Amino acid sequence: MFRLDNSYLTLPDKFYSKETPEYAPIVRPVLWNLDFFNELNIHVDDKEELQKILVGNQTHIGSTPFSQAYAGHQFGHFTMLGDGRAIHIGEHLTKDNKRFDIQLKGAGPTTYSRSGDGRATLKSMLREYLISEAMHCLGIPSSRSLAVIKTGNDVQRETFHDGAVLTRVMKSHIRVGTFEYISHFGSLDELKKITDYTIDRLYPSAKSATNPIESFFLQFAEQQINLVCNWMRVGFIHGVMNTDNTSISAETFDYGPCAFMNNYHPATVFSSIDSNSRYAFGSQPTILKWNITRFLETLLPLIDPNKDKAVERAKYLLEIIDSSWREVLALNMLNKLGFQERSKVNLKIVDELFRLMLKHKLDYTNTFVNLSHNIELSGASLNHPELKLWFEKWDQLVPNKELMQQKNPVFIPRNHLVEGALNDAVNGNFQSLFKLLEVLKKPYKYLDEFAAYTIPPETHFEQNYQTYCGT
Ligand code: AMP
Ligand code: MG
Repeated sequence: MFRLDNSYLTLPDKFYSKETPEYAPIVRPVLWNLDFFNELNIHVDDKEELQKILVGNQTHIGSTPFSQAYAGHQFGHFTMLGDGRAIHIGEHLTKDNKRFDIQLKGAGPTTYSRSGDGRATLKSMLREYLISEAMHCLGIPSSRSLAVIKTGNDVQRETFHDGAVLTRVMKSHIRVGTFEYISHFGSLDELKKITDYTIDRLYPSAKSATNPIESFFLQFAEQQINLVCNWMRVGFIHGVMNTDNTSISAETFDYGPCAFMNNYHPATVFSSIDSNSRYAFGSQPTILKWNITRFLETLLPLIDPNKDKAVERAKYLLEIIDSSWREVLALNMLNKLGFQERSKVNLKIVDELFRLMLKHKLDYTNTFVNLSHNIELSGASLNHPELKLWFEKWDQLVPNKELMQQKNPVFIPRNHLVEGALNDAVNGNFQSLFKLLEVLKKPYKYLDEFAAYTIPPETHFEQNYQTYCGT
């Protein structure tokens, strides 16, 4: 069972609301992450009891279920939000005292649900489980999933769907929106409290820095920059990079309308609600900077009690961030082509390839696999004279193939594979989902037997494909 603590509840009660999950008439686990249970040192002595706990029908010893209050900028506009369909059961401590939030997503309405039902469809929770685990296996920090349990509660969207609860695990669910909430609706003392709490929990080394607040901010920003540049490396589009979905622990989370890109195009958007393409693939690093700036604004009173001085200092901190994300992004792209050094020649050849991938509508993942593994996967032929010329120039620079194989995934959760597996699963056949989870476990190693999973979708699939947010 879990070893639960409740440190979040030591914060003022403005930060949360105690909740009771809604009753689930059936308790049917459909995905159960045994490896992850083991990693977290959760010994399952009574599986049936644990299932009841993870669907919300029973309270774990030591648990005081609650949901978190937060605000956030959604598509650029400030709004009060909060966990509308997620209930924390506590913080699990592993054997070596690592702390993880355990959250039930889809366990019914909370104080912050507004007009929502607090429920989640089985399909969307299976999707979150699949993609979050895939991100973890790609080596990219992410929320993870312990289980998906069917509830027997109907979820009404455009039609009725099966409901399910996902157990989401993160180092912490504190987000930029948590700070925005307290900065707008709280006192300076409450801002200090959440800041101290977050530093203690997530960035303890900042405490001994000459300037703890700035050190906290810079560490957070560096980790977020690394995170988003890794998304760029593997072709991941988060889809809803609102500030409430930007975690202070720098873990990818809130898997709503996210998707992986097939053909390279910086303007790629799949989310049905992103009509202005704010969160397009190529915009993610600049959007991150926007989100980081919103976070920095909340810290201004702690940076310097004199507002003008605080703003001056913040401008300086943002300059650091600005040059940092350009540097980290460039390095990720250089690495994808086997370069460790940032030289003019190397950068030029990277830029040329991106231009050619766009022009020739090449598959992003397969182009890099073809180059790093010397195998020709579909959708990324280098036969065009322009590409051949580029290849010769690149090859003469002696790229490091070993580095390339570490940086370029072969297997990603392609949209058509994900949809196919999820549609089968909601119809009761889990084989294709289990298989896809297996393929995505070792994404960097090419295996002939999994070759079918490298094939991009037909063009018409991509043209019509849309992803959805709160399903
Ligand atoms: P998201 O787009 O997942 O970041 O969600 C935005 C906000 O809507 C958050 O405050 C969520 O908790 C809330 N929300 C999303 N789906 C539901 C739902 N089915 N019921 C209640 N609140 C929801
Ligand atoms: Mg969210």
